[in-house]
Amino acid sequence: MLHATVDLDQYRTPVANLDAIDPADTGPYPPDSDGKRAAQEDVGVLVRRMAERQRQFYADGRFALLLLLQALDAGGKDGTIRRALSGLNPQGVRVSSFKHPTELELAHDFLWRVHRAVPRAGKIGVFNRSHYEDVLVVRVDELVPEEVWRARYAHIVAFERLLFDAGTRFVKVYLHIDRDEQAKRLQRRIDDPTRNWKFDADDLRVRGQWDAYREAYAEVFARTGTNDAPWLIVPANRKWYRDVVVATAVVDALEALPLRWPEPEVDVRSFTVED
Ligand code: ATP
Ligand code: MG
Repeated sequence: MLHATVDLDQYRTPVANLDAIDPADTGPYPPDSDGKRAAQEDVGVLVRRMAERQRQFYADGRFALLLLLQALDAGGKDGTIRRALSGLNPQGVRVSSFKHPTELELAHDFLWRVHRAVPRAGKIGVFNRSHYEDVLVVRVDELVPEEVWRARYAHIVAFERLLFDAGTRFVKVYLHIDRDEQAKRLQRRIDDPTRNWKFDADDLRVRGQWDAYREAYAEVFARTGTNDAPWLIVPANRKWYRDVVVATAVVDALEALPLRWPEPEVDVRSFTVED
């Protein structure tokens, strides 16, 4: 039993948008230590449900699930993957991190490296950053001319449609933190020796582009938040709430599928196992 149930619809495009969602929201949980404890217990319950459903999802083998994570620096992508998916069978999960493209990747269309990483049927793929960088950082840093990145919204929608038609279901997550929370987290990377390795001076430059990123994200949500692959704008200032929202979304996506156990190809019951 869950302590509370998160209403995902309020966070989904086209209803949701960046201005309407408070990064510090805690939904049905009180914003205090009781709420935190309840949400953490609920993540445990959801993760067990996820793992249970994953068995049949794998056996059924007709669908793939793609959990795609986007966020500003220190938005919490790594922590979300670590905590909200912690009970899954690792054999059925693949995490792909998209960094600066290599020379080989840049010599292809922008979806080439992404298409190779999409999960096969029966598997759960997690994208830590994604093809959306090609209309985010690429736009903000002016890495290609505007007409090139502008054409990509349509390419992305068509690409996701192709994957959907082939059985892929999407959970596209934006981890929504505010400027103060980002400042706190970046400062912690400077102050805490066990987090120094995460510090990247470039993150401070990118922080200066806050408004440009916000505008770029708003356009991403407006143009690519389709019926089949909507965006989920997750309040992420409080990690415990972020985790319970993402875990709920993954469970929801798995439980929405009309899964069945495959019919055995032989009459299984006609066999006996000898001593
Ligand atoms: P962390 O939060 O731990 O720092 P990260 O996802 O930021 O993880 P990094 O190696 O620091 O990982 O950064 C990856 C970098 O690659 C980001 O700055 C991102 O903007 C950049 N990147 C990803 N995809 C593209 C792309 N298609 N074109 C240009 N840059 C990209
Ligand atoms: Mg980084």
